[in-house]
Amino acid sequence: MDISVIIPVFNEEKNIQNLYDRLSQVMQNLNVSYELIFVNDGSKDASIGLIKVLSKKYSEVKYIDFSRNFGHQIAVTAGLDKTSGDAVVIIDADLQDPPELIAEMYQKRKEGFEVIYAKRKNRKGESFLKLLTARVFYRLLAKMTAISIPVDTGDFRMIDKKIVEVLREMPEKSKYLRGQISWVGFNQTFVEYDRQERQAGATGYTYRKMLRFALDGITAFSDVPLKIVTYFGFMVSIIAFFVAIYALLAKFVWENSVPGWTSLMIAILFIGGIQMIAIGIIGEYLSRMNHNIRNRPLYIIRDSNIEED
Ligand code: UDP
Ligand code: MG
Repeated sequence: MDISVIIPVFNEEKNIQNLYDRLSQVMQNLNVSYELIFVNDGSKDASIGLIKVLSKKYSEVKYIDFSRNFGHQIAVTAGLDKTSGDAVVIIDADLQDPPELIAEMYQKRKEGFEVIYAKRKNRKGESFLKLLTARVFYRLLAKMTAISIPVDTGDFRMIDKKIVEVLREMPEKSKYLRGQISWVGFNQTFVEYDRQERQAGATGYTYRKMLRFALDGITAFSDVPLKIVTYFGFMVSIIAFFVAIYALLAKFVWENSVPGWTSLMIAILFIGGIQMIAIGIIGEYLSRMNHNIRNRPLYIIRDSNIEED
């Protein structure tokens, strides 16, 4: 098997046929042996039915059907666990990632690159808020991490089997695959593209899911938030020390202390707020540790046509 393509699917009934047609075209032009692994992540529409119909007609179509929605990163992870290709491509089902770019990636692979990620030149048809939050987040993350995770890059990429094998051995439960793949190393390069509008249907990434994803990325690759809290604690303590000296002087030396209700309230609220934030940040790390310790399976498969080896 030359190429395995992993396609996470969440309510994509209107895109599946189109995607299949375009992917098959690209693969046939490349003249490679390939498999298309659709991972149905608990879709509520007809997606899995359509995928199964395709799989009956075409032997290269494989599917994994989850028992419920586990999230995009987990769906891709399940695909990675089952691939057998020498190269693996991760691609969205909504045709925002043009399948034709795979040909370009394959060319780079022949030049000896082991990870070829797709870098967005621009993004069409997405809300201002999404573009802004994504822009800020990727740059913030880049500043906070020791490894360099490329900015403006999704999971659309071609990776070598060697990297897939490493990813399978990484047991962490909070997946931030694009970060993990950067962390792994090897020869990495990129191809540029214009990100298209979603062909049909609606985004499966709510702001809630995006926030969780962002926190997964940060907590998995950076301790900076914890350090910031510590520095802030020190700073506040130093300020508090001087304020305490001032308060004592005012009372005993200058003897002009006034009932300082206002300043007291401000100080208490301020420190209270900082403490809450600090505890919250620690909680984010702790809950992820807790997930890892529980050691539940990452996903549950209802049905699949991929045989275990
Ligand atoms: N997806 C998924 N599970 C989810 C949300 C999304 O498998 O819980 C899939 C979705 O079908 C698509 C890809 O992940 O193939 C990217 O999702 P989407 O297009 O909704 O995100 P956006 O492009 O808006 O960031
Ligand atoms: Mg999309």
